[in-house]
Amino acid sequence: MDFQLSERQVELTTAGREIYERHLRPMLDGPSGPEKTRALRLAMAEHGLLGLNLPEKQGGLGLPLLDTLLVTQTMQHCHSSLGGIAHRSSTGAVGAIAEYGTEDQQERFVRPLCEGKIGISIGITEPEAGSAATAMKTRARIEGDEVVLNGRKQFVSAVNVNHYTLVYCRFGTTGKASDIGAVIVPHDAPGFSHSSGTVNMADELLFELYFDDCRVPLSNVLIDGGAFGKLISVYNAERLGSISRMVGSAEAAYDYALAYSKERKQFNRELSDFQGIQWMLAEMRVKLDAAKLLLYRAAANASANGLPNPTETSIAKVFVSQAAKQICDDAIQILGANGYTKEYPLVHRYAEVRGGSIYGGSLQIHKNMIASAILERPISQWKRD
Ligand SMILES: Cc1cc2nc3c(=O)[nH]c(=O)nc-3n(C[C@H](O)[C@H](O)[C@H](O)COP(=O)(O)OP(=O)(O)OC[C@H]3O[C@@H](n4cnc5c(N)ncnc54)[C@H](O)[C@@H]3O)c2cc1C
Repeated sequence: MDFQLSERQVELTTAGREIYERHLRPMLDGPSGPEKTRALRLAMAEHGLLGLNLPEKQGGLGLPLLDTLLVTQTMQHCHSSLGGIAHRSSTGAVGAIAEYGTEDQQERFVRPLCEGKIGISIGITEPEAGSAATAMKTRARIEGDEVVLNGRKQFVSAVNVNHYTLVYCRFGTTGKASDIGAVIVPHDAPGFSHSSGTVNMADELLFELYFDDCRVPLSNVLIDGGAFGKLISVYNAERLGSISRMVGSAEAAYDYALAYSKERKQFNRELSDFQGIQWMLAEMRVKLDAAKLLLYRAAANASANGLPNPTETSIAKVFVSQAAKQICDDAIQILGANGYTKEYPLVHRYAEVRGGSIYGGSLQIHKNMIASAILERPISQWKRD
């Protein structure tokens, strides 16, 4: 067991920060919006920050999962929109296409994504299927050389900046998880539309998607049922991607509060002179280190093709999502009223890590999965009639 990052890993994160300072930071000035996100995506591709873990033969960099997450964490520390792009263009929905797609799909979707030309959202959640994701009703039926989708998704991220959504849907009528497959739906497909978005706590938009006899070429079917387990095993890498973003935000909040505590004076002393503040900083640092170690363990132990162990993923998710909230909350406390205003970056950092207890399987759902692993038996949450 080696607890030091390798020279190459340190170089990667240093390079990420330098690219941010030199090329990306100036682009972040002014209002944000879909055009800016697309421009940033292209710039990040140009500087080798996309497709980090995706196979080289598909246009990616072929980095191990841990190295990928270190870069994502660094970009998130620099700016959350950069962390979001790094995550979605490496460990996002694209992972399932890189793993299970046909060569044609990998050329059409993975390569342009690595080049920053397209983005892919993921559509799983439905009004009646949140935590109980396998209760989804969106149906896919194959008609000749097309697949026809009917149904609705909700809370889907980044639809306004992306070109496709990987839509989880039912190919059969048994009502079982084994009916579930996935289709890559272009946002200009006939019968597809989406809402204008609901603003969440972190000022990001979440979209409803509508499929009304939505027709997509059969060649866009990634998995036509019988493979929900396969989709979820890749989704664990996506979970670690979003966990690395939470670590990046928590570290940024900690660094900000630490620096502030050395500057701000009350009672004629720096805040960092007070033991009450010192203990808060110590607690924050303990949580941050533990969060990193759990994330890095899950990433380092991933299989050769980058699929993490589900229980280690859940353990990282449960700890990091709680620790990140507490670190950001303490950081706000250290800044006092300044920390509580949107003039300072901590309100946004708190708001974005807050979502981590809900998306990608809530805190409670991951605890259920950990319990199931500890007790070595499936623990069904379903009430049977
Ligand atoms: C920021 C953000 C981004 C998102 N992006 C996407 C996206 O891109 N694509 C997508 O498909 N979805 C996305 N989602 C949706 C997300 O996956 C769902 O919110 C999540 O699965 C929970 O579903 P729900 O909100 O319907 O909550 P519910 O399932 O209604 O749960 C409500 C509460 O009950 C608890 N609960 C439910 N079942 C159990 C149980 N068995 N045991 C104990 N407690 C339980 C939950 O933990 C939660 O606290 C996003 C959500 C957020 C917040």
